[in-house]
Amino acid sequence: MHIDIFTLFPAMFEGPFSESILKRARERGLLSIALHNIRDFTTDKHHIVDDYPYGGGVGMVMKPEPIFAAVEAVYQGGPIILLTPQGRLFNQQIARELAREPRLSLICGHYEGVDERVAEHLATDELSIGDYVLTGGELPAMVIVDAVARLIPGVLGDDASTHEESHSDNLLEYPQYTRPPEFRGWRVPEILLSGNHAQIARWRRKEALRRTKRRRPDLFAKLDLSSKEDQKLLKELEAEGW
Ligand code: SAM
Repeated sequence: MHIDIFTLFPAMFEGPFSESILKRARERGLLSIALHNIRDFTTDKHHIVDDYPYGGGVGMVMKPEPIFAAVEAVYQGGPIILLTPQGRLFNQQIARELAREPRLSLICGHYEGVDERVAEHLATDELSIGDYVLTGGELPAMVIVDAVARLIPGVLGDDASTHEESHSDNLLEYPQYTRPPEFRGWRVPEILLSGNHAQIARWRRKEALRRTKRRRPDLFAKLDLSSKEDQKLLKELEAEGW
């Protein structure tokens, strides 16, 4: 996958994209990321990228011309996503859809935001990473690149690990433990040490259901729990008071 990122602050991306899994994905040619400084696409002497809002108000608005010029200079297809707190809420399902695209373009706003003509006539989608306002679209772009990149086949060592994890199926992941089996008197659940894979799978499903119901009733309400096995687990959980 190739990702073009349009930003006024390309240096912000240096750390996150040069460490750990994203670094390895880039080195192995599974992911390439190009950072484009929107300021480089201004045509005036002072390289101005923002201006006062029409109608008055506080703060500055990013001008449309350099953003259009930057995207049009490199665009070779795929979604053009404007990061904005007004966009649809990014989630694992959207990450999966984006991971199937060969190319993505991400536009980072800053200051009071971006001239509306970018949303209307350039972007093909608008995404928000949550109901709060950040100073710029750089952190949201990093969040989206990270969530999408780990779903590209081959990026994680074990692709199966993304199928069981939280939000893959409206279910939060079961609790995970590693060695030692006892730490400060707190023991790992015996079933996990038993080597009985069928029982371990059953325990994990049950704990995932318990956790989702307790922490995210909104997700729990969307689950299909019609199978015989789930019905049994639900009865047990109810008897245990969840
Ligand atoms: N005035 C804008 C509003 O009320 O919608 C907020 C502008 S914000 C201070 C500056 C930039 O940060 C936005 O243009 C956007 O690119 C980015 N941004 C801030 N919060 C975001 C979020 N939750 N998700 C995605 N992008 C965000």
